[in-house]
Amino acid sequence: MGNGGRSGLQQGKGNVDEVAATPTAASASCQYRCIECNQEAKELYRDYNHGVLKITICKSCQKPVDKYIEYDPVIILINAILCKAQAYRHILFNTQINIHGKLCIFCLLCEAYLRWWQLQDSNQNTAPDDLIRYAKEWDFYRMFAIAALEQTAYFIGIFTFLWVERPMTAKKKPNFILLLKALLLSSYGKLLLIPAVIWEHDYTPLCLKLIKVFVLTSNFQAIRVTLNINRKLSFLAVLSGLLLESIMVYFFQSMEWDVGSDCAIYKSQDF
Ligand SMILES: [Zn+2]
Repeated sequence: MGNGGRSGLQQGKGNVDEVAATPTAASASCQYRCIECNQEAKELYRDYNHGVLKITICKSCQKPVDKYIEYDPVIILINAILCKAQAYRHILFNTQINIHGKLCIFCLLCEAYLRWWQLQDSNQNTAPDDLIRYAKEWDFYRMFAIAALEQTAYFIGIFTFLWVERPMTAKKKPNFILLLKALLLSSYGKLLLIPAVIWEHDYTPLCLKLIKVFVLTSNFQAIRVTLNINRKLSFLAVLSGLLLESIMVYFFQSMEWDVGSDCAIYKSQDF
């Protein structure tokens, strides 16, 4: 098997004299998980001499701890798009993907641009050029802030629900930092807004709704996998996130910060 070049799985080539386990990067903080049964595992594969690698078998379910370490990233991505829990576990627990911050900013920028463009469309004004330019720039920042606040409200809704429900979810304290990372990563569906930004005129509210549904489904699966909770709780968590987000949207609309309110085609027709 190849040990790939994927981050988090790089194997030091120096240790040739003994049997080496998968590097448990800064050990305690990085425990691996079996992608089939969610049992903790110390290693994903074992490196015998001369580059002979053997994939570790899970003690509790007798299946490979993480079959995806042998797979091509594209296959893993396809599995993640299909919302397979195994692929989610592989990405969240067994790799060290660290792009959630950038991904989040990028998605927010796309969303802000889309709203901003819809705003431009809805108000034609006759002020002098300079004024328009500054106003437009300011509008973009405002759209970005609104998108960010709505996103935050959504997350707070989810976290609050899970915090209230925590005695039911797990004995120990839920790992909210990992959950935040999982939520940000699983919002990658928002990248589909890029085509919306490029071919803005051809985009219908239906497409935007479908994107939203896809993002919510991914979030649902990410919560379920990260905290190892049942579908019902995860669904309710997403629902409470949406509730808080809708309250926020309603608040912005009533304050008329979200002016020219069809700006939020993306939002207003959603839920
Ligand atoms: Zn297992």
